[in-house]
Amino acid sequence: MHPTNNRIADLVPEVRTWRRWLHQHPELQFDLPKTSRYIADQLGTMDMDEIHENIAQTGIVAIIKGTGDGPTIALRADMDALPMDEYSNDEHASKTPGAMHACGHDGHSAMLLGAAKYLAETRNFSGTVVLIFQPAEEGGTGAKAMIDTGLFERFGIDEVYGMHNMPNLPVGQFGLRSGPVLAATDFFYVEIEGVGGHASRPHKCNDPLVAANAIYNGFQSIITRNVDPIRNGLISITAMQSGEANNVIPQTATLKGTVRNLHEDTRDTIERRMGEIVEGVASTYGVQAKLTYDRLCPVTVNHDEQFNYAALAAERIVGTDNVDREQPTRLGGEDFSYMLQEKPGAIIFVGNGSTAGLHHPEYDFNDEALPYGIAFWTNIIEDRLPVSK
Ligand SMILES: [Zn+2]
Ligand SMILES: [Zn+2]
Repeated sequence: MHPTNNRIADLVPEVRTWRRWLHQHPELQFDLPKTSRYIADQLGTMDMDEIHENIAQTGIVAIIKGTGDGPTIALRADMDALPMDEYSNDEHASKTPGAMHACGHDGHSAMLLGAAKYLAETRNFSGTVVLIFQPAEEGGTGAKAMIDTGLFERFGIDEVYGMHNMPNLPVGQFGLRSGPVLAATDFFYVEIEGVGGHASRPHKCNDPLVAANAIYNGFQSIITRNVDPIRNGLISITAMQSGEANNVIPQTATLKGTVRNLHEDTRDTIERRMGEIVEGVASTYGVQAKLTYDRLCPVTVNHDEQFNYAALAAERIVGTDNVDREQPTRLGGEDFSYMLQEKPGAIIFVGNGSTAGLHHPEYDFNDEALPYGIAFWTNIIEDRLPVSK
């Protein structure tokens, strides 16, 4: 017996074809003309009750109504790729230099299309399913852009679920946790303007390198001295740029990096202290310095009740032994967090097997995972929207 069900097993070859087409045609951010056309065209061949295109530029929403009244549940997939080259000799490798599906969003979209086909054919549920295909998950907060169009009110969404593939979690296994799953993710930039000049006359300059060094060290002390040790966070300074010549004190310096944490109060503390340190260092060393702090996405927090529904839906496919309800919290970020701030819901990880890691040039979504992902989507709908007997 197939671990999912026979109808889903029958769908897999077609879903694999969609997945590989999407993999060959990666597009970035909100600019997904081919991807969104392809997905909308596939939905057009299915018995959807409504299809709405061009939401937040290239987002798509499709509606499937069940056999009776009931709540409205949204299932979300992301569609965008990453700006990097793929290292692959596979037939379905990226045809676009500088773009690749290195996060498996091709698989996510294909699995949701598979679920769409199954749910439209079987309609073994009472209520409404809202399928969300979103652009710009990778650093573009496409989820927020779709929400800002009034997504949740317009379609009357009561609950929302997300799924992401997880390399090194075996195929046929799922992982999830209640509470914080992924970190709040922010990017920061510090621009320093000093007074440059001849390296032999430092007393006539205001060296931006001294200030950059002090800011670098000052930021390190935020984590150890300003935030609660058990509500900790992470600051990674990933770039410092300044200067060129051996005998010139430069005029400017820049730093950039990322901040991750799991608590909004920690996030507030880090942003505030970074601002104070930049200001204090600037006045100490007589330079101008400006911090730009971009909040990309909040902490992804699974709601307890919906976490449990998601775990039960996964356990119905693969059994309790193959569902890890205590996945470690990770410091990656996911803009699905914005959807979980709107309505109760949960995100679950589906095993991708021993592939290269996410965002690696050799990564590929594992087609063996397709039936498990499709079955998760169909189970959560049939569990949460039962047909009254
Ligand atoms: Zn990613
Ligand atoms: Zn991703």
